[in-house]
Amino acid sequence: MRIIDVRERTLPIASAISNAYIDFSKMTLSLVAVVTDAVRDGRRVVGYGFNSNGRYGQGGLIRERFAPRLLAADPASLLDAAGRLDPDRAWAAMMRNEKPGGHGERSVAVGTLDMAIWDAVAKAEGVPLFRLLASRAGREADPRVFVYAAGGYYYPGKGVDGLRAEMRSYLDRGYTVVKMKIGNGIAEDRPRIEGALKEIGGQARLAVDANGRLGLEEAVAYARMLRDYPLFWYEEAGDPLDYALQAALAEHYPGPMATGENLFSHQDARNLLRHGGMRPDRDWLQFDCALSYGLCEYRRTLDCVAAAGWSPSRCIPHGGHQMSLAIAAGLGLGGNESYPDLFQPFGGFPDGVRVEDGHVTLPDLPGIGFEGKADLIRVMRDLAG
Ligand code: MG
Repeated sequence: MRIIDVRERTLPIASAISNAYIDFSKMTLSLVAVVTDAVRDGRRVVGYGFNSNGRYGQGGLIRERFAPRLLAADPASLLDAAGRLDPDRAWAAMMRNEKPGGHGERSVAVGTLDMAIWDAVAKAEGVPLFRLLASRAGREADPRVFVYAAGGYYYPGKGVDGLRAEMRSYLDRGYTVVKMKIGNGIAEDRPRIEGALKEIGGQARLAVDANGRLGLEEAVAYARMLRDYPLFWYEEAGDPLDYALQAALAEHYPGPMATGENLFSHQDARNLLRHGGMRPDRDWLQFDCALSYGLCEYRRTLDCVAAAGWSPSRCIPHGGHQMSLAIAAGLGLGGNESYPDLFQPFGGFPDGVRVEDGHVTLPDLPGIGFEGKADLIRVMRDLAG
């Protein structure tokens, strides 16, 4: 099995929403296709990948550095002992001549290609990626995965009533945990939070996300306000690399906190676990493989998580894509984010998958499962089919 072509296209995932830090009206992503010479069930094996929302398309890095390295590598050097494409060897080929540290955007480019490589590897075996991961890890796959509805963005003219209607629509679709944005100021956010809590009543739990907007003083002021409410979690209060802020916050906020979506390497994740005062009995880790060098790196991150005394079930990745769903089902993560109304056609679940009691059950589709989502696979096959 060898890689014969790598294609990339940068596409808009623009939307009128904003969080406390960025607006999404100019957001793009990279879609990639890794074309192999393998054929399965009469169809050429092509793996697909894309990067998560929140970072932009990576066309330059993919086309100028990472795809050429994959294609220049001796094909035999990318295979495992059984002659199968080995994602870890492909990863090492992409990362040749890259210095350590400074993970920035290249982790997004590599994560996008890594997703496509894993998709191709599982498709070549004719099995769902989550079953491949579970069997290689010597564990039982669990196709039933917890998901929560992320939304509650700031939107011009939305108001508390609009927020409540949005939260109601998530409950109507089977979610039991919903999330809203905060960070524009306590005076604006307190009535939004109280409105959302009133709307969901006892039917669901509410998480809040400040998107790294707050300085220490403001993060503590928010903590003092938020601890009056029974929140599912208080997410990303301060800058993702300000571990001292995160650690200080634990003294003011006894409830669960969540962070990690903007840490893009296992070294950064390890620093959070070492220095961020995170508590393995209640807090949540949100590292997103599609922004942080892919699953090959995410497995190293999970090793750091375990070494720090955490269970993988405390990980609920950011991003709402099927790759993290597959990892959750295959490697025992605690669940996955979901954006019911955003970032289409890339986010979400295969057609016909419904949220029931806050969980989805993954169908047995070869690879990551993109072929089960009609609007998504159409765009993918348009790139390379
Ligand atoms: Mg977030």
